[in-house]
Amino acid sequence: MNNIKKFFVVVMAVMALSATAQVERPKLVVGLVVDQMRWDYLYNYQWGEGGFKTLLHDGYLCNNTIIDYVPTVTAIGHSSIYTGTTPAFHGIAGNNFMLNGKNVTSVQDDSERGVGGNEKTRGKSPRNLITTTIADQLLLATDFKSRTVGIALKDRAAILPSGHRPIGAYWYDNGSKSMVTSTYYMDKLPKWVSDFNKQHRDELSSDVYNLPIGTTLTFALAEQALINEKLGQGEVTDMLTISVSNTDMCSHYYGTHSPKVDSIYQQLDKEIAHFIEVLDQRIGRGNYLLFLSADHGGTHSYPRMTKHGLPSGCWQNPDALTAANTLLEQQFGVKDILKAEMEYTFYLNHEVINNAHLNYDEVMRAACQALETPEEIQWAIDVAHIDTYPIPTILKERIKLGYFPERSGEIYIVPRTGVYAGKKEEAGSNHGTWSQSDSHIPLIFMGWHITPGETSRLTHMTDIAATVCAMLHIQAPNGCIGKPIFE
Ligand SMILES: [Zn+2]
Repeated sequence: MNNIKKFFVVVMAVMALSATAQVERPKLVVGLVVDQMRWDYLYNYQWGEGGFKTLLHDGYLCNNTIIDYVPTVTAIGHSSIYTGTTPAFHGIAGNNFMLNGKNVTSVQDDSERGVGGNEKTRGKSPRNLITTTIADQLLLATDFKSRTVGIALKDRAAILPSGHRPIGAYWYDNGSKSMVTSTYYMDKLPKWVSDFNKQHRDELSSDVYNLPIGTTLTFALAEQALINEKLGQGEVTDMLTISVSNTDMCSHYYGTHSPKVDSIYQQLDKEIAHFIEVLDQRIGRGNYLLFLSADHGGTHSYPRMTKHGLPSGCWQNPDALTAANTLLEQQFGVKDILKAEMEYTFYLNHEVINNAHLNYDEVMRAACQALETPEEIQWAIDVAHIDTYPIPTILKERIKLGYFPERSGEIYIVPRTGVYAGKKEEAGSNHGTWSQSDSHIPLIFMGWHITPGETSRLTHMTDIAATVCAMLHIQAPNGCIGKPIFE
């Protein structure tokens, strides 16, 4: 063989090798999102053995992870973690938003029906989420062999994280008191889910949103998914997304650090300890990549703050809508110029404005002025003209990243820092603003290829998907704007 021929034989051999070379990936990716978990909770609670203590000890901690959009609410948080992007790109503009002029929930889908509970209920799907997720990218990278399951009490927290083609997404239906799905995914519950509903009938009938049992049921179903769907046992990487929803519902009602919320976190610690044990046994510690984060933080309530002389304030959103509409009616002679308020955004009623032949710009200016009247509101912003406002760039960017034309309200409200939507006499917490309380979230990676350590460098919620995808050597979700955290 002459030298040229030898050269080509070597080149062909190298090419053949690289074509068959498998990228090293974990057997399973586990995404764990705790609804309304403030970052400082990691260090405020006394943890037992095996749960948070293990995550803090064996994990890599990103201690300065920030949400870089507003409003900081559940559906957006879950979407942004798993897509690596924000409402401006993924389209989930709130827990509720306007779609073709109708007020819809983030996962509402009238073309589908409920499955497993009351079959007449309206269906749900991730169709409003217009960009891909980590799980979608895993499908693309594995010739559609990768399998994902999403589980949570809240529908949006099971549906949005698990992407567009999971093998299942299951959530709690309050009407039928059972774990359900929708025709978007399947026509009948798998036997292991209907068996779960039968076995846990009494627990599922209790107040799952305000009791630790809600956390236990979430992890128990996740364990059943792991076993019955054989996640992490195939040739390619699978994914399991778990969201803990009752931490949020209970805090809205009883407040941060209330005994009820504390008891849920203590239970969560135990459930995480058990789940890590299950993962270690079934998949092996070095074979799964787990991350823990939150969809948003939470603002301490007015009573909790003011009792100790700290600044706080409340803004009553339904009253604000009525008060602003009254002022606008005095000025323009028509009722209901503002159509709705949702999560610190307001929608103008275009039908009313057009029918009365009002000048849109004039109405917009007057509406912003009216909404800025209460002293709790620092700015009411016409988002389309945000660059003309003398507000800090950091806030402008977050408002722009949170704004999806057609779906978001045209006016964005910035309350004074520390002010939240709620009533002064109520103990419940809230979230949604740009402030540290709402936007500083925990972020821990543990397991496959993770060296324990920590950083206080600024990282972003959108970096989570970018990091997971970079580690797995798969393309980041198509709208991803985050950056991988690890070198
Ligand atoms: Zn909430």
